[in-house]
Amino acid sequence: LGPTSLVLRQREELFGARNYAPLPVVFSRGEGVWLWDVDGHRYLDMMSAYSAVSFGHSHPRLVKALTEQAGRLALTSRAYSNDRLPLLLEQLSALLGYDRALPVNTGLEAVETALKAARKWAHTIKHVPDGQAEIIVCDNNFHGRSTTIVSFSSEEQYRHGFGPLTPGFRSIPFGDADALEAAITPHTAAFLFEPIQGEGGIVIPPAGWLARCAEICRRHDVLLIADEVQTGLGRSGRLLACEHEGVRPDGVILGKALGGGLLPVAAFLADERVMQVFQPGDHGSTFGGNPLAAAVATEALAVLTEERLIERSAQLGARFLARLQAIDNPLIREVRGRGLMIGLELDTHRVPARIAAEWLLARGLMTKDTHEKVLRFAPPLIITEAELDAAARTIEEALADLAQ
Ligand code: PMP
Repeated sequence: LGPTSLVLRQREELFGARNYAPLPVVFSRGEGVWLWDVDGHRYLDMMSAYSAVSFGHSHPRLVKALTEQAGRLALTSRAYSNDRLPLLLEQLSALLGYDRALPVNTGLEAVETALKAARKWAHTIKHVPDGQAEIIVCDNNFHGRSTTIVSFSSEEQYRHGFGPLTPGFRSIPFGDADALEAAITPHTAAFLFEPIQGEGGIVIPPAGWLARCAEICRRHDVLLIADEVQTGLGRSGRLLACEHEGVRPDGVILGKALGGGLLPVAAFLADERVMQVFQPGDHGSTFGGNPLAAAVATEALAVLTEERLIERSAQLGARFLARLQAIDNPLIREVRGRGLMIGLELDTHRVPARIAAEWLLARGLMTKDTHEKVLRFAPPLIITEAELDAAARTIEEALADLAQ
């Protein structure tokens, strides 16, 4: 850490709540796949703010959309209509093929929206008594940090001390379709899942699992709701990660990259069959669907298509995955991933992932340790082949040093 970084870190530690333990670097500028710290050192961003910066930092088209809209109109609340939101809603429907979208701000809000939709759908359509609806989730999930969402986290730290927790959730092993069928009751409203578990350590379910879940849910009249906050919008090499299994969920949750890495934008998407449950006054937020967010998200979706970033993610991701899998190093237990969403699992008896992440950071490569044992690589989808090859070399060399 340079002198400016040290002073800023000290301020953060003095005046900020201690709910994070950030890696030792203080960033002040970003452009494309690169970030600079306050002392002028350059880093390759291989995590994109947990997949939110898919278009790279300060993408010129997105910055232009943001600044132009900020100078025109930023916020009115949904008590009034604005001239930008309808364009986003229409574009989301055209691109993703759902009748309607409910725009909110952060990922967790979109998950909460989906949970409310599912519960009310069960009540009004399936005639489950109010307060009795059940939602099935997966072990090792991550869907956000609200009091309701942490209630069904398998992570003890997320729940401990934050009670009373919200009832109505059952957790089953990720990747186990039989467990889903066994957990369903007449009160089950929905099955909420991540098609690839991101925060859980880039966990890819067995082939065929999701298609079976879709069939089971259809048979039992249970909503299949995909949290694609992290996997969606090209990250996994498809528009939605559910497409890898040919599955179209009843509801889709988007966030992160939808805001172009510039501001929080999230949404819950579903067909009229589900979305009809929301009546005026049922749900909303001050900033959800604001014209600034809508203008940026609309441009972000246009960039995604026009720059062919989904195809890039698939091609470059496959190349990078193969390159990492070819590294011969006793520290590596497994490398797995889809598209540009890759996890490298380390042998934690030899090296904790946090140490490896700090070691890579010192070599100018930003990654993130997850669950002590997995290094995550999720660069902006605009990354070039040459930059990815260089990253693979840095990772190979850094792990070789650590294995000494
Ligand atoms: N769902 C998934 C799958 C996520 O990965 C995340 C964030 N890591 C969230 C929901 C929560 O999103 P946010 O942090 O915007 O609330």
